[in-house]
Amino acid sequence: MKTSGKPKSLKQLNTRVVLDLVRARGAISISEISESIHLSKTTVKKVLDMLAAAGIVLSAGKGESTDEGGKKPELYRFNVKYGYSISLHVTPEDLIAVTTDLRGDITYYHKAKLEGDSCLERIIAALVETIRSFLAMKAATGEKLIGLAVVLPGLVDSAKGVSIYSPHFPNWGRDVPFIELLRAGLGAGWNAPIFVDNANRYQAVAEREKGIAAGRMNFVVIDALNEGLGAGMVLGGELIQGAQSISGEIGHMTLDPYDGFPCICGHKGCFEAMASARRILVLAREAAARFPDSLLAPALADASVRLDDVCIAAAQGDPLSLYLIDDVARWFLIGIANIIMVNDPELIVIQGAYVKAGSCFRDKLSEGIRHIGLPDVEKKIHIEYSRLGEERGVLGAAALMISDFFSQNLFA
Ligand SMILES: [Zn+2]
Repeated sequence: MKTSGKPKSLKQLNTRVVLDLVRARGAISISEISESIHLSKTTVKKVLDMLAAAGIVLSAGKGESTDEGGKKPELYRFNVKYGYSISLHVTPEDLIAVTTDLRGDITYYHKAKLEGDSCLERIIAALVETIRSFLAMKAATGEKLIGLAVVLPGLVDSAKGVSIYSPHFPNWGRDVPFIELLRAGLGAGWNAPIFVDNANRYQAVAEREKGIAAGRMNFVVIDALNEGLGAGMVLGGELIQGAQSISGEIGHMTLDPYDGFPCICGHKGCFEAMASARRILVLAREAAARFPDSLLAPALADASVRLDDVCIAAAQGDPLSLYLIDDVARWFLIGIANIIMVNDPELIVIQGAYVKAGSCFRDKLSEGIRHIGLPDVEKKIHIEYSRLGEERGVLGAAALMISDFFSQNLFA
């Protein structure tokens, strides 16, 4: 079945074009396909018969007749359950694991806390256990596993399958051959492709495939966690990796090298340190006496304030939270200005905690970018909040896997 890469014959090319159309549409008839891609009905019928025999295309009953008393046309549709993908996202705190169908829609979702210390062996073992449980769950369905992807924090060389360095998991060490270790854990007999990449890159793909960046060629997706901020960039339609996979590590872009807040990377004033929950907690404590009635007061008293709490309270108009969000927005603006001057995107998507702050944060950014860097030049850049939740990493990973599967398999 797997005939690698580019179509080598007219038959393979026709098959690719017909399948792409059937995948993109709902139920479709031979005539509609023939008109759309300028192939004869006989050729389209032959290709559909072959795809139906392979199981990737299914009969979808009869459509409406176009002329009075005419024969009702046979309809065909893409079999989204021909195969499935497995994607696993290792976040600094949790493991999010899903299966998807071949449209990249989640069919099963599982989330678990990463137990105990975050040593590499335990995380690999947790991944292997989850993958095995998914395989067992799918065993009786007849669906083929098309691939497995792991979404990781930190620097990842996706081509080599290596975790270069993860500030969240410094105990992993450097240049961890992640795919090799996972493959060894899965044992002999594993034959589906395995992919790995950095969360921000996968999350940018998710915005293009399932989110707010649909159809965009130049956009930057910024995700901010309690501790950790990074970006995935699509420029000229291409997902940017960079020479050493550092591209998108905007969290460690220096905003205030002299007086800035200490970063987990060892430097001062990095973007992610200035927007981190740790710094906001310090600011909140310093300012707390001026806002005794703040919604944050109880959480501040027992030091349990999280970034989410501050953002939610700001959206409710809490004065202390608004003061904190205002401070963070100023640093965000400097970071975004630098990104805009280097990459010139048409859209910046904000994911993560700050989405919960609502319009008070986004409006400050949208207004602010008009005045920063080349103030006389009109900047036609939209700043939007992501509508995707914590599934954004696995959605992007699944989308890339599915795209790879259909670029590798010609079914002819
Ligand atoms: Zn840093």
